[in-house]
Amino acid sequence: SAPVAEPVAPVATVPINAPSPREQLSRQIAAGQAGNAGDGSILSQLKSNPFFTAGFGLAGIGACVAFAQRGLRRGASLLRRRLLVDVEISRNDESYQWFLHWMSQYQKQQLAATAAQAAAAAQGEKPRVLTSLIQRFTPGLHHLSIQTKNVVHPNGSLHTYFSLIPGPGRHVLRYKNTFIAVDRARDTKSFAHDKGSPWETVTLTTLYSDRHVFEELFAEAHKLAMQLQEGKTVMYTAWGTEWRQFGYPRRKRPLESVILDQGVKERVVEDVKDFMASEKWYFDRGIPYRRGYLLHGPPGTGKSSFIQALAGELDYSIALVNLSERGLTDDRLNHLLTNIPPRTLVLLEDVDAAFSNRRIQSDEDGYRGANVTFSGLLNALDGVASAEERIVFLTTNHVDRLDEALVRPGRVDMTVRLGEATRYQISQLWDRFYGEVEGSEEAKSRFLQQMESLGLIEDEQGHGRQGDYRPSTASLQGLFLYNKGNMEGAIAMAPGLLPGWSSE
Ligand code: ADP
Repeated sequence: SAPVAEPVAPVATVPINAPSPREQLSRQIAAGQAGNAGDGSILSQLKSNPFFTAGFGLAGIGACVAFAQRGLRRGASLLRRRLLVDVEISRNDESYQWFLHWMSQYQKQQLAATAAQAAAAAQGEKPRVLTSLIQRFTPGLHHLSIQTKNVVHPNGSLHTYFSLIPGPGRHVLRYKNTFIAVDRARDTKSFAHDKGSPWETVTLTTLYSDRHVFEELFAEAHKLAMQLQEGKTVMYTAWGTEWRQFGYPRRKRPLESVILDQGVKERVVEDVKDFMASEKWYFDRGIPYRRGYLLHGPPGTGKSSFIQALAGELDYSIALVNLSERGLTDDRLNHLLTNIPPRTLVLLEDVDAAFSNRRIQSDEDGYRGANVTFSGLLNALDGVASAEERIVFLTTNHVDRLDEALVRPGRVDMTVRLGEATRYQISQLWDRFYGEVEGSEEAKSRFLQQMESLGLIEDEQGHGRQGDYRPSTASLQGLFLYNKGNMEGAIAMAPGLLPGWSSE
């Protein structure tokens, strides 16, 4: 039998990578025209590949957006440069504190005014639309930081003051119909050297056309700062190698409130004033324009009080540093004395500390060694002469520990002892406390009589005092304060001034 030819199944010659019908259809759609899609070239194949074309499209859009963005950013920064103006205040500029203080005061006022207007509106007065809109958007401070200042008074009492100032971050301020952006920025990476606190700047930004407001604003902030100091004495203390304002300015102490022995106060005041008037004399002779005063005497005899009152009288500030302070090195002291704030009396307390350091230096551990030494003090006093005036007051309770090398022109030009209360001082102090009270004169002579018989003061001729002990002016002030307005009480309590006396 004839072999039956097996019917051969027709083999479809389909290329391996042939698109499926579905893909073909989508290609045709992508190509837009099904009929003329394929002329077979690579380009047309690419063109007809939907993934490829879609990718191209996306990349194109991306590039455009990026370009536009960059353009916008450039445009914005150009516009910013053209239209806006910045003022940067760094932390160590004097205006830094003024500005923050002014800003918190200003915002407080603004809020109070807004509240008052709102209250008026609530009572039936219709606010104008614009006013009410402005009120609504008047920015208040929402982010504050607290500033605490501790002030140790000479009598040892501690006073703490708080103030709220704008905290780090962005704030908006409306000042004289201008909006000002305030950015208080903290750079946590860099620390203000020696202060241990982050470096900070405040940047104010406003429209270029409104830039004149800055001048007005700073003038106002400065005026506010000056008002706070008017009739007050500013105190500086050493912070690292620089002077920083310490606490709020204190009320000036009247010179009359410090009672020294006859003529002492006048002698010093006259000398300081004379020095202050002789700048040219020093300059012409090429002598460093500086003067030093040494006040010594037991504690509580008015050394600090007198310098404070003197600063008030001269309208000077006080820069205070205690030489027994730990960590005060010779270098620091030297640096401090060459950079004194203008119109400032320098007060170096406990100068004897530098002398005792001379004795203990060799056998002390490193930490104690980080104190001012005797030669360090002399160097700092002699220091590199600057053209500016320098008035230094040195105080000590132990004059016997000082070295005579200290008493040289330019180091110490005048030495004054403030002693325990004399008859004259007690009489003056009495008048200050009871001068207005009826019968004050008669009671005073009884009080002085009592003091005399206790052996605490000399008689009117200046002799006859028994015993070595005399009370300090501070303890007399304490007695009079305790018996405020009560002269008989003060007389009865006079024996309390004796050492070791107790009422039991
Ligand atoms: P010192 O510096 O000599 O130790 P302070 O000046 O600190 O003394 O005085 C301590 C307190 O005593 C202060 O409150 C001060 O008012 C009062 N005081 C001391 N001496 C006098 C004085 N001579 N006149 C007026 N007040 C005095």
